[in-house]
Amino acid sequence: MASPVADPLTAGPAESVRCRYCRGARGEVVLDLGLQPGCEQFAEPDDDGPDPRFPLRMWLCAACGLAQLAEDPGLPETVLGLEPRSMRQQAEHVLDRLAAEGRLRAGQTVAEFGSPHGSAWLPRLRGRGLVPEDGRADLVFDIYGMLHEPSQSDALLSRSARLAPGGLLVFQMFSLGSVMRLGQWDELRHGHHAYWSLPALDEALGHYGLGVHRAWNCPLAGGTLVALANRTPEPDRDTRVLIEAERAAVSAGEVRALQKRADTEAARLREWLVGRKLARRRVIGYGAASRAVPLLCHAGIDDDLLLAVADASPGKQGRRMPGTRIPVIAPAYLRRGQPADVLLLLPHLLDEVRHSVPEVEECGGRWVRVDDVLAGRA
Ligand SMILES: [Zn+2]
Repeated sequence: MASPVADPLTAGPAESVRCRYCRGARGEVVLDLGLQPGCEQFAEPDDDGPDPRFPLRMWLCAACGLAQLAEDPGLPETVLGLEPRSMRQQAEHVLDRLAAEGRLRAGQTVAEFGSPHGSAWLPRLRGRGLVPEDGRADLVFDIYGMLHEPSQSDALLSRSARLAPGGLLVFQMFSLGSVMRLGQWDELRHGHHAYWSLPALDEALGHYGLGVHRAWNCPLAGGTLVALANRTPEPDRDTRVLIEAERAAVSAGEVRALQKRADTEAARLREWLVGRKLARRRVIGYGAASRAVPLLCHAGIDDDLLLAVADASPGKQGRRMPGTRIPVIAPAYLRRGQPADVLLLLPHLLDEVRHSVPEVEECGGRWVRVDDVLAGRA
């Protein structure tokens, strides 16, 4: 393993962290998940580990309110997963809504700031008659792009610079508001540098002559924020309510509570798996998702408690869950008829997997949603 590239923005201890947006130095670590492997670093089958681990901490800027990675090892983001159906549906849902509201029309120019997650939206937009543009565009999409940018000020500048007069900037992001609303401490990961709240984003956009015009939350991947920004923002009532609700939810005191939640939920998962083992019940995970990695590692779970994790992505099969010896197997393995509790690490996929792997329940097994386990309901 080559030595990781130091993060130019925040290399060094937390005391020397500089905000990725406002460059402020005043802030605090609000969530510390200890040393974690890269959550996309699924080692090759012949690599027995141990996998390198790096500090994984969230730092909250006292000046601008941006929640961000305190430090980042600079791991390459290699996405081995398939784009889930829900991700494709989400894209169409957003585009349908924009079209219905008259914000997206054939003939408009469009630009996209992409990300390593899922497919780009440009082909969809081209399919709707929009014209890709290398310069300024009527519509600028940022689909999980911002959070991959180490410098948020550079990122906002480059996006605002691509916006034609009267244009609309469309963000789809994991927000601090969603993290807080849903208690998703496991959204924190290396490579995802920024977790904006809606009020903090609105204020930051103001420095580029922009503001949040509309915003709404979607259930995708637990919680995803869609925010529309323009140069003449007139947020409607729903958007103003959302901004104010987030303002209350993202204070340092509230965000600090993520730590207790992380520790409690990790302990519950471990307890549940130990209980299953004592009951001589086999447990196999489903969904080798990035966000399962901090959870399993924070809970100290290995293959003595979780036999394997099934995942439909061929790129992950045959590898290990990062930081563990837990093998990733093909979902076909679940069709073999041995009853097991299948711990669904991606709870929103329940309907999809029930349909695609009916054998689990047919042979006396059951699906157990990880969120039920973490909430103490399983
Ligand atoms: Zn800041």
